[in-house]
Amino acid sequence: MPDRSVDVLLIGGGVAAAAAAHALAEGGFGGSALLAGRELDPPYDRPALTKEYLRGEQPREASHHPSAGWFEGGPVELLTRTSVMKLDPAAREATLSTKEVVGFEQALVATGAMVRRLQVDGTELDGLHYLRAYGNADAIRADLEAHPDAPVVCVGGSYIGCEVAASLALLGRDVTILLQEDEPQQRTAGIQVGRFVRSVLEARGVAVHGGEQVARFTGDGRVAAVHTASGRELPCGIVVLGVGVVPDVMLARGAGLALGESGGVACDAALRTSAPAVWAAGDMCEYPSVAHGGRRIRVEHTEHAQAQGAHVARQILAGTAEPFAEVPYFFSDLADWATFESVGPASAWDEEVVTGTLAEGEPFGVWYLEGGVVRGALSHHGGLDLDRARELIRSGAAVDPAALG
Ligand SMILES: Cc1cc2nc3c(=O)[nH]c(=O)nc-3n(C[C@H](O)[C@H](O)[C@H](O)COP(=O)(O)OP(=O)(O)OC[C@H]3O[C@@H](n4cnc5c(N)ncnc54)[C@H](O)[C@@H]3O)c2cc1C
Repeated sequence: MPDRSVDVLLIGGGVAAAAAAHALAEGGFGGSALLAGRELDPPYDRPALTKEYLRGEQPREASHHPSAGWFEGGPVELLTRTSVMKLDPAAREATLSTKEVVGFEQALVATGAMVRRLQVDGTELDGLHYLRAYGNADAIRADLEAHPDAPVVCVGGSYIGCEVAASLALLGRDVTILLQEDEPQQRTAGIQVGRFVRSVLEARGVAVHGGEQVARFTGDGRVAAVHTASGRELPCGIVVLGVGVVPDVMLARGAGLALGESGGVACDAALRTSAPAVWAAGDMCEYPSVAHGGRRIRVEHTEHAQAQGAHVARQILAGTAEPFAEVPYFFSDLADWATFESVGPASAWDEEVVTGTLAEGEPFGVWYLEGGVVRGALSHHGGLDLDRARELIRSGAAVDPAALG
């Protein structure tokens, strides 16, 4: 017998679960709902961790989701610092880290993602940081304060490395980025945008070293240098690693939920997992996307996680299982110097069509085509109509590249 039962159990304290809670409330849900999240804080938007929060420009509460204090006295009970240790879909029961056993009618698993850890010598040294939660951002800020003259190396050329580098350059720090690709953000946005990102960062004094692989970190207790496979040695006192994430499927695996090729939880088009009455949303959710002609995708974008959580809540409210049809949306900025929004995501493309001029302060757009079909689009400073891009991605029809301008 469970210690108590709820109608809806939301597992994971990120924005996917929080958006589900919000959508339940908005939809007039009259039942009982409980959100159990592992972190110390209520759900929050992580994008601030590389931007305003890291720079000390905004307090924690500003990024609470849906808003500061939203859960207090509301229709969804929030348990922070509480992990779900075991999920038994057949019995419809979950065991919490408090030992309480909670019965449920429906559950949402939204356990998100964990940072990928670099496996090289020296990762035990002080001064090395990953960045996923408030606590990581706090530790970086404390280290910056304690070591005001220490050069910083950001490892990884994706948006996390670039955004952190931009924020720290804005704070006047000596920053270097090391990345495997030739250009920053090349994997997701292509070589042309990559060169543009490099130019924006270099103009602010950030050193960008592409084609590099970290071989080891050295130092006496605290990191003093990063060494690369090519023989480069970069003296530093602080390192921020942004080398990707892996879906957190520990709970899901233990519960026997089917996993997909991406390593996430395999869902159907409506975001139902392989277990009856158990749904998934957010960074660990892999599903056949109707917006992509049924291609299975899993994305790590904050607004998409929210949209998925809200979708699941609406299905629970209505007793339906409609397909989730959003085209994923992503945003990123380099301090205030460059602002990108993209839809897609384009995982493969053979043609890039640029509209406008790739220059700082200029609105421009890039279309990513595969066999003449639009797979994704990027807009800098609003230089491209993202709604039109969504329509073209959904249509799956070949377009005339010349007409995209
Ligand atoms: C530094 C940073 C900057 C980012 N910037 C951007 C950006 O600019 N734009 C963008 O689109 N996206 C950005 N993202 C990505 C975005 O934050 C994620 O896509 C989003 O957080 C996914 O939400 P989620 O709810 O699926 O997962 P998560 O945010 O990972 O939340 C999952 C939560 O579940 C908890 N949990 C795990 N297992 C259990 C369990 N068994 N019991 C209870 N709780 C559990 C975890 O501790 C975590 O708190 C950024 C991410 C990071 C880390």
